[in-house]
Parts: sequence; structure tokens; C-alpha cells
Amino acid sequence: MKTALRTHGFTESVIRAMTRLANEHGAINLAQGFPNFSAPGVLKEAAARAVCDDINQYAITWGAQRLRRALAHKYAEWYGMEVDPETQVTVTCGSTEAMASVLLAMVDPGDEVVVFEPFYENYGPDAILCGAKPVFVPLNPGESLDLEGVAGAFSSRTRAIIINTPNNPTGRVLSRPELEGIAELCRRHDVLAVTDEIYEHIYYEGEHIPIATLPGMAERTVTISGASKTYSVTGWRVGTIVSPAAVAGAIRKVHDFLTVGAPAPLQEAIAVGMESLDRSYYQTLANEYRGRRDLLYQGLIDAGFSCQRPEGAYYILADFSDLSDLPDDEFARWLTAEIGVASVPGSSFYSRPELGRKIIRFAFCKTEPMLEEAVRRLSAVKRV
Ligand code: GLN
Repeated sequence: MKTALRTHGFTESVIRAMTRLANEHGAINLAQGFPNFSAPGVLKEAAARAVCDDINQYAITWGAQRLRRALAHKYAEWYGMEVDPETQVTVTCGSTEAMASVLLAMVDPGDEVVVFEPFYENYGPDAILCGAKPVFVPLNPGESLDLEGVAGAFSSRTRAIIINTPNNPTGRVLSRPELEGIAELCRRHDVLAVTDEIYEHIYYEGEHIPIATLPGMAERTVTISGASKTYSVTGWRVGTIVSPAAVAGAIRKVHDFLTVGAPAPLQEAIAVGMESLDRSYYQTLANEYRGRRDLLYQGLIDAGFSCQRPEGAYYILADFSDLSDLPDDEFARWLTAEIGVASVPGSSFYSRPELGRKIIRFAFCKTEPMLEEAVRRLSAVKRV
């Protein structure tokens, strides 16, 4: 095993392990964040058609032209971003590969990468795979970002900052002043902003602002997103990168050697979806998620957890101090086996496990009947 992995105690994904545990116990899986409802018919039909029409061989390594063009059009329409589909877009196998390819292309061993904490489980390992040193800064549910803390994390060795808004797992949607503060630091220290905006259409308060749209940021921002959450197709594994043309070459090379390309018929289907779904689709998506959020939030409060109502994405971090003295991993296992609801232990989102010992994360990307049943089961939790 690579030394960097051994010395960092590289472990398996707790999120994916909890899915396996949920399946073993037949529990409701509110651990891994994937929807249990259908993708839009237009995408499913387009995917089937693409396969039947023999779009079954490799697409161009950095993405099918139709999808790159549809994506550039969408960025222009939604955010006024000028994106050249020929030189600035790379299509990857999910945003997970996008993040890994970007960091492998841009970050050298010994460089520092600023990461907000708690963080989506993959970012730490991504930085370690590059030999980089992650530097963590707190971002808590229901609290504003401490910009002085962020400034303190920047040094002469900082190469990049990873931003994720709407945020998994905190539910924060970074506001314009917060993003302006981060952008100012990136400009001052000549740092690359790598922003994961996979939940860009799932938010309940404020607005989604791509940091690339702030002054002087287009040339120093890599914007990652993907089809998984917007079109409820997490299993299709299609992610996207928009970057300055100057860095796209390096990113495309890493992506090419890692995966050659994302699935061709599914790229075609996503292009069709992007071209044909209008704004009402995206508004309905967010509205339906708002209903699911409120249902789970109230259920958790009634069951005795303490938590904040998320502003975006589809997760709730819940403190279970009033319910149990168990550590997070044992409590999550108990909840899965005995109550029939799977969650993710909080420690997997922190660099120091003790920071997440009284927290678990629930995902609410599920139909209302399933969430109602989960809430009913959770109401049976008595102090353990
Ligand atoms: N992003 C989702 C989560 O945090 C799914 C993670 C995954 O397994 N790819 O649960």
C-alpha cells in the first residue's frame, strides 16, 4: 500500500459500509444519499433510446460534445457564466472522480488544501491520494462561516480550497458575503477554488451562487457538479467539471488515464434532459425536497434529537446526546439493527473522530411514505 495511505490510517467509506449494514438488517437506508424515487421519464427514455441507437462506444474522453454544449448553455442561462464547451468542460465518472482528477492534476505532494469540517467523506482521502496536507476549518450547521478562521488556514503552501455549497453534511448554503470572503483570500494568496456544487438545485433558503461568478474568480475556480442529485441518477456516474482552459488540459489528461470516459449513452441522455427540462422541473425538485426536509426535521426533534433545519442539500446532522451515551458508530449500528433506520456516524465527517462522537447524519432523499415510516420507527428510540 502507498505510504501516504498507510500513515494516514486510510479506512473504507463509512457511508457505503452503512448501506451494506442497512441491507443486512433490512433497515430504512437514510445513510448513503441516494434517492429511492424515479428519475425524470425524459432521461430514462433518452438513455434507452441512446443504447438502441448504438451510442455504445467511447465518447470523446473529455465528454460527448452534445452534453458539453448543453452544460455550457445551462451555466450561461442559470448563472450568466461564459463557458466554452470545447476548452473548459470535462465530463467524468461522477463528481467523485471529478474531485479526484482535479486534485491529482493540480496539487503537488506537500501542498496544503483547505477543507471545511465536517466534510464529505471523500475529500480527506482525495487530498491524501495527492500527497497533499488537508488543513481543516470549521463550518457548522446553522452558523456563519468564521472568515477569520478561514484566513488563518491559508499559508504560503496553500494550493487550493475545497468548497461545497449547498453543503454535505451541514446543510449550509454559503451566502454571498461568505463566498466573497473566501474569494478575496483566493485572490490574495493565488489559490485555486475547487467547488463541489452537486446540490446546486437543492436549497431552501437564500440563493446558490457559484464562486466562479465573483470578480476575478472565473480564472481561478474549478466548478464541479453532476447529474446524480439534480436528475436523481446517482448510479449513472456522470459528473462535470468547468475550469479555466489553462487548467483543463491537465485535468483532462488525468481523467483520460484514470477512466477514459464516462458512459456514452448516459451522457447523451443527460444532454437530452438538460436541453428539454425547463425551470419548473428544478423548482419542483427543490420544493419536494423542502417537504421531505420538514418531515424528517420535525420527526427528529420529536424523537429527542437536536439539529438545525438545513438550508440546502439533503442531509441533517443530528446530535443524540439526550438519547444515548454510546459513541456515534455504536449508536448508528444499534439504530440500524434495533430500530431499523440507518444513518452515518458523525465521526466519519471529521479529521478527529472525537468531534463527531455525539452526531449522526440522516439523508432525506426518500419518498414521504418511507420518511414517515422512518420517523415512526425513530419515535420508538428511548434512552439507551
Ligand atoms: N454523496 C452521497 C452521500 O454523502 C453519496 C456518497 C457516495 O457513496 N457516493 O451520502
